Formats: sequence, C-alpha cells, structure tokens
Amino acid sequence: MQVPAYVEYEKATSVAHAIALLARFGPEARILAGGHSLIPMMKLRLAQPETLIDINGLSELNYIRVTGGQLRIGALTRHAQLLDSAVAGEHFAILHDAEKVIADPIVRNWGTVGGSICQADPSEDLSGTFAALKASMVIQGQDGSRSVPAREFFTGPYETVVAPGELLTEIQIAIRPGGGSAYEKVGRRVGDWPVGAAAAAIWLAGDTIAEAGIGLTAVGARNFAAAEAEDMLRGAPPTDASLARAGEIAAEHCRPTSDQRGPADYKRHLARELTTRALRRALNRATGLNPIGPDT
Ligand SMILES: Cc1cc2nc3c(=O)[nH]c(=O)nc-3n(C[C@H](O)[C@H](O)[C@H](O)COP(=O)(O)OP(=O)(O)OC[C@H]3O[C@@H](n4cnc5c(N)ncnc54)[C@H](O)[C@@H]3O)c2cc1C
Repeated sequence: MQVPAYVEYEKATSVAHAIALLARFGPEARILAGGHSLIPMMKLRLAQPETLIDINGLSELNYIRVTGGQLRIGALTRHAQLLDSAVAGEHFAILHDAEKVIADPIVRNWGTVGGSICQADPSEDLSGTFAALKASMVIQGQDGSRSVPAREFFTGPYETVVAPGELLTEIQIAIRPGGGSAYEKVGRRVGDWPVGAAAAAIWLAGDTIAEAGIGLTAVGARNFAAAEAEDMLRGAPPTDASLARAGEIAAEHCRPTSDQRGPADYKRHLARELTTRALRRALNRATGLNPIGPDT
C-alpha cells in the first residue's frame, strides 16, 4: 500500500493565519487544498512536505463574483462550483467548456481551481484556458499582495512564481464587450488528461477582430499561449481563412513531445485543428450565433 511519509498538519482559520503558518513552518510547508494532486504525489514520495497547511475551511477563498468589471474566482473554488456558476458561464463560456472535461465528478467536487493552477501540470486544462482569457493571478504573502499575468505565472513544469510563504488567493478576468470564448480538448478517454487542447477567446470591434487570446495545453507551447497566432489575428477580418491561418501558426510555434499519450506530430496536428475549431466556436459566441451552445 502506498502511504505518504510522516507529515505535520495545521488547519488555517483565515488567509492571514495561513500566511503566518507558511512563515512559521518555512519552505518545507505546503498548502493543502483539495489534495487531488498533492496527496497522490506524497504517496509516491514525489512530494515530501514537512507540514501541510489545510486551507479547506477558508470560505473567504471560495467565491465567484463580478466586481470592478472583472470576474473574480477565489482560489478555493471547487471545479464543480465553477462548472455550475451561471455568472462564469455567462461571461466566459470557455470556463464551462473546460470544466466539463476535467477529470470526473469526484475530482471536480473537491479539487480546486487554485490547486489546479498551482500544481502547474503541463497538461492542466485551466492553464491554457486562463492564458487565452489573459487572466491575472493574485498572490498574497506577508508583505501584501501582487498580481501576476497568467502567462507569467508558470515558470516550468510543476513550477510557478508563488514563492515559499505565499498563497494564491484569486484569479481575475477582465470582462470586455464583444467577446466570445471556447475550449476544445482531445483526450484518450472521458475524464482523462488532454493529448492536446486549445482555448480561444475573441473580442470583436465591428467587422474586425480587436483582440484574440489563444491558449494551448499539453503541446509544449511557450507560456501555454500562441502569441504569434494572436498577433496575426489582431486587426484581421473574422473569416474562416483568418482562423485557419491562426491554427497553422499556433501549430508551427508549439514544441510537443512524444509520450504515452501520442506522437509529437499528432499533437502538432491537434494544436492546429483544435485552435481553429476553438476560434470558430469563440467567434460564433461573440457574434451571438451560438451564445450558449457547446456543439458547433
Ligand atoms: C483522477 C484524476 C484525473 C484528473 N484529470 C484532470 C484533467 O482531465 N484535466 C485537468 O486539468 N486536471 C485533471 N486532474 C487534476 C485536478 O484538476 C487537480 O488534481 C486538482 O484540481 C488540484 O486541485 P487540488 O485543490 O486538489 O490541489 P492540491 O492537490 O491540494 O494542491 C496541488 C498543489 O497546489 C498547491 N496549492 C493548492 N492551492 C494553493 C493555493 N491557493 N496557493 C498556493 N498553493 C496552492 C499545493 O500546495 C500543491 O502543491 C485530475 C486529477 C485526478 C486525481
């Protein structure tokens, strides 16, 4: 039987208390959110924290609300809550698209949005999603809080800018007019990690694409994004040809690797095809052709 090594356990009663505990127990302390990633890693001895700081009681980190022109998602929001959130789906349909295909109900009921992001698995569905939406991550420590763009949050596989002593508290996404967004994923089976996935957001100004966001998961994209394809789309007409070209550029710039989920050339093919499809659905939603439907 796989069991974790001995570990101390502390239950935080507030964000301030969690930060004080992180300071007291030092760099070998780890935050415990849903535990769906951390506990398996501890069982396999891939992670051996000395102290777990449990934040599950912190209702102040569990919310989805719109304030100041932004959708704000507390770090302790469970996947299932994001999937159920009408306000999240109303502004960013992509969040429902992505949450629908993350794992299974058991993982979604307890796994958290913040835990997903902080785990920084290269196959994490929300990494590409937040990259496409150009979200910001709010990080709090003893010296106050700072905001980091989603594309600067990840420093490598399983690594983020969250320093010892700090806590991710909130994800913020600016709400702008004329927007539509969508997520497309190919996995080997229902509930599995992606072989490849693409996230897209489009903001229109009249007959032009004013701004575009493209996120890529599991295909070796720099910062989980396809910046060169976004550059091409900015100011372009919202035509099938533009979207197909963006897919090609996204595929050219990613660096997939062959592994048990599939060969690199297949993943590159997915990057192109899924980017184009996600852009098409995002555009349809932006123009009101398919404001709620996940199927076209
Ligand atoms: C069977 C299975 C299938 C899965 N399939 C998918 C899938 O298809 N797609 C997908 O994207 N994901 C998938 N996952 C991953 C799942 O989404 C994550 O395991 C889960 O969401 C992580 O959140 P958690 O709250 O459980 O984090 P935890 O396991 O508690 O924490 C993960 C890491 O983040 C740190 N952490 C957590 N919260 C914070 C915080 N607020 N501030 C700072 N650090 C923090 C912890 O210290 C730890 O290092 C799957 C997981 C399982 C078990």
